[in-house]
Amino acid sequence: MHTTILGYPRIGADRELKSATEGYWAGRVDATTLAGVGARLRADVWRGLRDAGLEAIPSNTFSLYDQVLDTSVMVDAVPDRYRHLTGLDRYFAMARGTRDVPPLEMTKWFDTNYHFLVPEVEPGTRFRLVGGGDAKPLAEYREARALGVETRPVLVGPLTYLLLAKPAAGAPSGFAPLDLLDGLVEVYAELLERLAGAGAAWVQLDEPVLVADRAPAEIAALARAYRRLGDLPSRPRLLVATYFGTVGDAALRALAATRVEAVALDLVAGPGNLEALASVGGLPRKTVVAGVVDGRNVWRTDPRRATAVCAALLGLADRVAVSTSCSLLHVPVDLDAETALDPAVRGRLAFARQKVGEVVALGRALHGGEVAPAAGPEVTPPAVDHRVRARLETLADTRRGDRAARLAAQTERLGLPPLATTTIGSFPQTERIRRARADHRAGRLTDEEHTRAMREEIARVVAVQEDIGLDVLVHGEPERNDMVQYFAEQLDGYAATGHGWVQSYGTRYVRPPILHGDVSRPRPMTVEWTAYAQSLTDRPVKGMLTGPVTMLAWSFVRDDQPLADTARQVALALRDEIRDLERAGIRVVQVDEPALRELLPPRRADQAAYLDWAVGAFRLATGGAADTTQIHTHMCYAEFGEIIGAIDALDADVVSVEAARSRMELVTDLRAAGYGGGIGPGVYDIHSPRVPSVEEMEGGLRRALRAVAPDRLWANPDCGLKTRAYPEVEAALRNLVTAARRVRATTCGQQMNWWIVEQFLNVGA
Ligand code: GLN
Ligand code: ZN
Repeated sequence: MHTTILGYPRIGADRELKSATEGYWAGRVDATTLAGVGARLRADVWRGLRDAGLEAIPSNTFSLYDQVLDTSVMVDAVPDRYRHLTGLDRYFAMARGTRDVPPLEMTKWFDTNYHFLVPEVEPGTRFRLVGGGDAKPLAEYREARALGVETRPVLVGPLTYLLLAKPAAGAPSGFAPLDLLDGLVEVYAELLERLAGAGAAWVQLDEPVLVADRAPAEIAALARAYRRLGDLPSRPRLLVATYFGTVGDAALRALAATRVEAVALDLVAGPGNLEALASVGGLPRKTVVAGVVDGRNVWRTDPRRATAVCAALLGLADRVAVSTSCSLLHVPVDLDAETALDPAVRGRLAFARQKVGEVVALGRALHGGEVAPAAGPEVTPPAVDHRVRARLETLADTRRGDRAARLAAQTERLGLPPLATTTIGSFPQTERIRRARADHRAGRLTDEEHTRAMREEIARVVAVQEDIGLDVLVHGEPERNDMVQYFAEQLDGYAATGHGWVQSYGTRYVRPPILHGDVSRPRPMTVEWTAYAQSLTDRPVKGMLTGPVTMLAWSFVRDDQPLADTARQVALALRDEIRDLERAGIRVVQVDEPALRELLPPRRADQAAYLDWAVGAFRLATGGAADTTQIHTHMCYAEFGEIIGAIDALDADVVSVEAARSRMELVTDLRAAGYGGGIGPGVYDIHSPRVPSVEEMEGGLRRALRAVAPDRLWANPDCGLKTRAYPEVEAALRNLVTAARRVRATTCGQQMNWWIVEQFLNVGA
């Protein structure tokens, strides 16, 4: 093995997987057709990689939804609530829920914007290899072989699988999923033996959990698992793949002591891997798969740097293979599709297909004795904006007044009841608005026609919210295709791609913009739409911005300066936008930071520095707002125990977070941290089409009230509504408002009376 990659995009160059899967859900596409599309996509990838000259080609990197879900199905880790279903019905029910059962919890795959479905296990979970000889990795291995392509099946490693799993509700409190390791490893043992029998020479086991801090018991579990698998009498050679950071010494030592033939190291996100490897005395008798081509960013590889790293590794291992740092799942498919990009920017880029070419070229240089590939065409350096740099130098950390006083002033100005109701920003993106946006883009709709269409939609969204009885309204974001791209398109220093789609979860793909130079805001970005919405109602309309960390996390960002510096440039643009919103009469502004935790470095030692610049950028963006302007922020996850201090430090007035899918666990976290602002634990899970009942949401709110006072508790969905449809959204929001009113009426009698009196006095005044 001289050249390989750890994985490849599975969505197709034209997003074929999305249309087929969504067609299947809608009943337009049958199961056979869906399977056919999958087979064609896999064949295209395998042949493409072979034709590019890549030696070791991965398989089982395809998935109809998510590779962790595939693993759960394969090892029969299927919670009872799905057991009455079979086949694809069961599979998609676990992914998306049905009218009757909620889906598995979904969360971010490490610090990426890919989401996986969290396995749910309990002491009684009995793993087995479902389908035996027809299990997915075997079937796909044989499928590739039938096409004449020899592949290396890729599996989620057993340790990573269990460390990402959560105990099912009702599991005893002392139970940890890792307790089930030995049973799971036996299933992997059977699978490996069967793969060997089918002819597989190599298998890749992904263990990215090894780049985070690991307790001694976890290292012992790692050693035990790979000793057992390594000692199997008949098995393929094993590649344990780590990525997204530096592997700890203890984990490296444990792997070195096993019979595993190869270890993949990420030398882009984990430059410390070289040192770590040296400090454990290298991996003699093993192959190091050197991740020198960045699998997560779009910049071209510097061949000189990459060859130097490989050369340094040669002294530390028996063999060195050239590879990507992680699966190419995280980058767009093909730069050749981008014909409209500025050539200066384009010249600095490589997408999945181009990165395979880089791996092959580097491999030839390393092993074929060829000279290192030349640096390629001259690269134009990023654009510099001296005005932005000068302004940032003079801006100090501006602080707003005391939060409790601020909250009191805002509640009065906004006339808010306890358990105020709101939404997270977007409303369903109807076919009509999508078409209007597309037509405008294509020049089939004039600016005025487009504005009229958007205003019509905003008016409808405002009317719907007034009718439902929500307290803080939104304009619904109809003009936005995507919360990051919308801003990126209006900021200087950013470029948009035409086809650069990347899977976020299931059939939700995003097209991250490319932040290539200094960032600035030529003109207001959201004021016109928000002010229009506010002109239609007396209730407060919440302005809606995307925060600096999220702007970076969901973009491909220049890697020639620290992220902290780039974040401050974005923050400055947002600060100016908030000032313009205030001037236009907007009293509430939400700055979304759903990606705050996503960028958290896996190792504790690196986390403080990250949180420091991330919080600093948020405060730079929001610190210019008046004390009477209510600043909301929103995050799409619940397990934020480790960043709870940072959430407090953001100094926002109200934080809304995901909670519906993780059973309000965050309420406990918040109570423990003594967080002092308003909090909206999402009580309506928008990731599934299910309409939650009044009772269900009421229960969620009552549970939250154990940790948050009623005047600081908000009732809201757990994320934006753009992926949902109107009928379900309206029904769910009506239930939400009813739930909030019921809780107000019973729990907050006292506060309610005060509130009514105050309203009365205000009206009288
Ligand atoms: N305001 C955005 C929306 O409602 C927030 C989306 C998100 O958190 N991912 O769509
Ligand atoms: Zn969200």
